[in-house]
Amino acid sequence: MLTPTLKSHDGTAKFIMPLHDGMSVESVLVPFANRDCVCLSTQVGCAMGCKFCHTGLMGLKRNLTSQEIIAQYNDVKKWNLSQDPTRLSPNIVFMGQGEPLHNFEELKAAIEWLIHPKGGKLGPRQITVSTSGYLPGLKRFNELGGVNLALSLHSPFDHERSELIPLNNKWPLKEVFSALSEVKLRSQQFINCEYLIIKDLNHTALHAQALAELLKNHRTIMNLIPFNPFPGAKWARPSDEEIESFKKELVSHKLRVFLRTTKGDDIMAACGQLNTEIKQ
Ligand code: SF4
Repeated sequence: MLTPTLKSHDGTAKFIMPLHDGMSVESVLVPFANRDCVCLSTQVGCAMGCKFCHTGLMGLKRNLTSQEIIAQYNDVKKWNLSQDPTRLSPNIVFMGQGEPLHNFEELKAAIEWLIHPKGGKLGPRQITVSTSGYLPGLKRFNELGGVNLALSLHSPFDHERSELIPLNNKWPLKEVFSALSEVKLRSQQFINCEYLIIKDLNHTALHAQALAELLKNHRTIMNLIPFNPFPGAKWARPSDEEIESFKKELVSHKLRVFLRTTKGDDIMAACGQLNTEIKQ
């Protein structure tokens, strides 16, 4: 049975799944009171090269197959149940290594199994696919069975977002949000805008105002995530006061905002910290 390679003081567990060709990929189990959540990878490495992301440093090694994606889920779930047989099947976020929509066919096949009554038996709302704005995949998002969508936003300004997410040079915000308008949302379903708060970069009153303008015609929730530094990163985490003040600014513009607590950062298992080329 797969066992965690590292466990955080907050209960977050990081798993490294060996693959048949000698490569490996990471998954992370994050504990929650009611139902845990597992963060799955869709590729070994990633081609998108986001500057704030440790995985981006690896480049793309290869796509995972749908079987490899499903195996991560089943293996982590099995270990979780071995620790406590009363645990419910974990929810899934595709926020591990890779740009999920860049491996669309295998992702789609994996989701089809995960939500099938004879397969993973999950509801589509228990699954979230996160994208950096990979437009060809975004345009096909409605093929994914009604799962939740999360967009790595990080700035309302193209010049700044392009610095963080080079893909934005090819598909700027206007095109990304035009594709988002076509995504079918059920009642009570929102697009999650993931927003890394990076010290001295993207948390001014001007950013809040531009975000309000950008999101005004979209049903969104903003998830604020304080930046998780990793070795070699050129940015830092803002202070708690700065984070709180940015949150207040956004709320004053009537945006729905959540501040995510960072879990697993002591074992390099938090958002943007996964990299299987670094010896743990
Ligand atoms: S943030 Fe996501 S899309 Fe960007 S490099 Fe990292 S894994 Fe790839």
